Amino acid sequence: MQKTLLLLLMGLLIACTSDPMKNNPLLQEYDTPFQTPPFDKIKTEHYMPAIREAMAQHRAEIDAIVNNQEEPTFDNTVAAYDRAGELLSRVNAAFYTKNSADTDEQLQALAREITPELTSHRNEIQLNPVLFERISTLYQKRSELNLNPQQMRTLEKYYDDFIRSGAALSEQDKEILKDINTQLSNLSLQFSQNLLAETNAFKMVVDNEEDLAGLPESNIRAAASLATSLGMDGKYVFTPNKPSWIPFLQYVQNRDLREKLYKGYIMRGDNNNTNDNKEIVGQIVNLRVRRAKILGFDTYADFVLVNNMAKTPETVVSFLQRVWEPALKVAKEELAAMQKIADAEGAGFKLESWDWWYYAEKLRKEKYDLDEQQIKPYLKLENVRDGLFYVANKLYGLTFEKQTDIPVYNTAVETYQVKDRDSSHLAILYLDYPTREGKNAGAWCSGLRGYKKLPDGSEQFPLVTVTTNFPEPVDDQPVLLSWDEAETLFHEFGHALDGFFGRGDYDRICGALPRDMVELPSQINEHWAIQPEVLQVYARHYQSGEPMPEDMIQKLVNSSHFNQGFMTVEFIAAALLDMQWHAAAEEQSYDVNEFEKNAMQKYGLMDEIIPRYRSTYFSHIFSGGYAVGYYVYLWAEILDADAFDTFKEAGDIFDQETAGKFRKHILTEGGWGEPMDQYLLFRGKQPTEIPLLRNRGLLK
Ligand SMILES: [Zn+2]
Repeated sequence: MQKTLLLLLMGLLIACTSDPMKNNPLLQEYDTPFQTPPFDKIKTEHYMPAIREAMAQHRAEIDAIVNNQEEPTFDNTVAAYDRAGELLSRVNAAFYTKNSADTDEQLQALAREITPELTSHRNEIQLNPVLFERISTLYQKRSELNLNPQQMRTLEKYYDDFIRSGAALSEQDKEILKDINTQLSNLSLQFSQNLLAETNAFKMVVDNEEDLAGLPESNIRAAASLATSLGMDGKYVFTPNKPSWIPFLQYVQNRDLREKLYKGYIMRGDNNNTNDNKEIVGQIVNLRVRRAKILGFDTYADFVLVNNMAKTPETVVSFLQRVWEPALKVAKEELAAMQKIADAEGAGFKLESWDWWYYAEKLRKEKYDLDEQQIKPYLKLENVRDGLFYVANKLYGLTFEKQTDIPVYNTAVETYQVKDRDSSHLAILYLDYPTREGKNAGAWCSGLRGYKKLPDGSEQFPLVTVTTNFPEPVDDQPVLLSWDEAETLFHEFGHALDGFFGRGDYDRICGALPRDMVELPSQINEHWAIQPEVLQVYARHYQSGEPMPEDMIQKLVNSSHFNQGFMTVEFIAAALLDMQWHAAAEEQSYDVNEFEKNAMQKYGLMDEIIPRYRSTYFSHIFSGGYAVGYYVYLWAEILDADAFDTFKEAGDIFDQETAGKFRKHILTEGGWGEPMDQYLLFRGKQPTEIPLLRNRGLLK
């Protein structure tokens, strides 16, 4: 009801603006430093007309290719197609960046309105028979065209994209497919909006500070400040956002409250209210089966994996199982050790899933003598950021200059100019750290613009964004990160490096790593975060400036095996859940909770661990483009563990020859060839899962 009213108001707002094209900053040349989006001038009402105008321009560019009377050539068809849609990418990037990190009801309503239009726009292009005909003609005689390797790869990738989009189908099947695509994109959007609403709706209010015994002072202050901002002065508010619930589960002695907050987190989307996601999950899964079938695949998993390194569902599942077995064993040992602590304390109960963080923290202290709270003063946000910059400088010679005149979509965002070893301009980096109501959960790296070789031979340089949900600064206190958060920043920054370095004469192959390799650049970057010689540089006490003491560094390094049974099992459980959701060969009706239970029983998941994501808030696979793709983080860990070994084998974690090869074959040219071939060019031999098992302490 409210939504309808809002949409109506929005329509009026847009209708009243005299000429939305004129003076629309999204449609002008960006007259800003480094041609960055003029967020200071862009207003909500500019987005919709700009996106529609950009779609119209894109259509005109496609029409020009289609109506070209000359025989198709690589230049007049493939290269022209590759260049088309520049304005649309630019406008969309600004809109979706804002909408994912700093949204409000108006922007969300716009997203709901524009998403189906964008889907049908893409549908029309990818199902355009004349366009496909021209590309197909070139593909059939590709060996006679004298193409260079980049051109060949670009043509092959586009041909494959068209086939996978259904371009070779009958007219009737194309219509069915269009309808499936539209429904799927609407459902995905609804899924994520429901999830955001559910995350924002759950608030656990605690009246008395005594009930928070055990919780660190900084978390108590954050909860009090949130309560104040919600008009509940003197109380404490906790939410299902990570900076709130994780420390609560780790430290708060009150078991009932821990259970309550945990259930608030794991029941999101499963509360049988208007934001329930169960129905949507079933619909998405069935539509995906329908899509796979039309395109000639048995299951949706088969359809997705054929273009990945892994190639088949069997390869993925058997890989996951090879790590699952040893991990489950270790997790059971961890549980036994924690139960022993609980028993010794006279707890008098069998540990449940919401107890894991609390007793794991005790186990960490007992076994590794490491208290997260002692580490945090050494992980001031700015120091960790400088650590990222230090590593990128040592490996690749990059330098970072803070900018003050680049317009940003929220005042919390920092910007940097990134310069290459020879001081030439490389990219602009946007860093957006703090959690806020209008920001999607989690952390991600994205971009406002990719690298592009322009037709006149000049270059357009990338604008890369890194977004996290770190604690908001309270009063003038510095933000101190947990170890997990520091690693997250190294992770996302690894993606950013990929974004800075990706090159290619054509957009289609520029920085285009397949899904199960995309996490290699990010995950390998985490390795440097914990190297003692790197910690000595960035992990400095926020008050004294003293480097982290050596024994603390040693404890931190030792504790990297801590809780790995749990972490691995919780992760693989979610990856297997993803694989099972997409293994169906037929459409069917689903009881989502029942399905989830059976899926986990099949692999013998222990009761004390639930999958890292339950279906109703598994946004990676139901709204984030990672369907049949959650396994990739672990898959990429085979690669990152093996790739980091290359540096160790060279005897120097900053070995320049190895760094140079990694930059060239993976980060710069990763999209130019088959993924395993690119990896072999870097490494010279096939990777195995042994370094992964060793790093996680699962090798007994
Ligand atoms: Zn990542």
